[in-house]
Amino acid sequence: TGGLMKGKRGLIMGLANNRSIAWGIAKACRDQGAELAFTYQGDALKKRVEPLAEEVGGIVVGHCDVSDGASIDAAFAELGKHWDSLDFLVHAIGFSDKDELTGRYVDTTEGNFTKTMLISVYSLTAVTQRAEKLMTNGGSILTLTYYGAEKVMPNYNVMGVAKAGLEASVKYLAVDLGPKNIRVNAISAGPIKTLAASGIGDFRYILKWNEYNAPLRRTVTIEEVGDAGVYFLSDLSRAVTGEVQHVDSGYHVVGMKAVDAPDI
Ligand code: NAD
Repeated sequence: TGGLMKGKRGLIMGLANNRSIAWGIAKACRDQGAELAFTYQGDALKKRVEPLAEEVGGIVVGHCDVSDGASIDAAFAELGKHWDSLDFLVHAIGFSDKDELTGRYVDTTEGNFTKTMLISVYSLTAVTQRAEKLMTNGGSILTLTYYGAEKVMPNYNVMGVAKAGLEASVKYLAVDLGPKNIRVNAISAGPIKTLAASGIGDFRYILKWNEYNAPLRRTVTIEEVGDAGVYFLSDLSRAVTGEVQHVDSGYHVVGMKAVDAPDI
């Protein structure tokens, strides 16, 4: 419908199904004329990602497990066979053992802490290292974060600590890559019912709580996050880097939240 991203080529990492935030961003970029490529994690997702990629005329690069450097190298080598340069990258990836996304943060194990940090934090830096080489005309990198980085949210636990690290990474990466005109930003999305979110304890309650307390009195959709994504991935935001933009119906500005909302 528009041409804001005409001539731009982008890699989308983190598509699982048609409820993924990555899908909302992919559709919005495609609507603005972008050319897309996708990686997926594991064979189980292959059959879901292939038809979605086809729907937006995208390339399926193949499997990429971001906890394995060799797997990232292989995916970027494959991408390099299709494209000689890259304009944007979407990192919509996070993971933590769901047994630790409930109860107390203090009970987090060393093993899950390390794994959560590797997949949810370090992977942004790892993929940025590879993308930098292909972003020969500058570029835009976008990741997804959550308010649990800033304030303590029930059950979000180690994921909140990871998102704090991710948001700090965005700033450090933005400074390192700014001279190459590669921008790095994050969208802090309000809660959305996705596969990853279903691992968080009492997620329905979090959704309701947001609906009653956000200034706009509703939650957000993947399409709305996608439209904000177009801003960051297109030249509209060409002077913006190191930013964490809330797309959360304004929830983060409200100091006094209502405790007596109906139905919760
Ligand atoms: P999703 O389940 O659709 O996407 C998560 C993706 O991470 C999946 O595609 C999964 O395959 C991928 N992934 C996990 N481990 C991986 C690994 N080792 N290697 C490669 N990929 C791996 O859920 P989503 O909600 O769309 O999540 C996308 C991002 O948005 C995540 O970073 C999440 O934390 C963030 N986010 C989600 C919400 C929400 O409420 N859903 C809110 C704010 C931020």
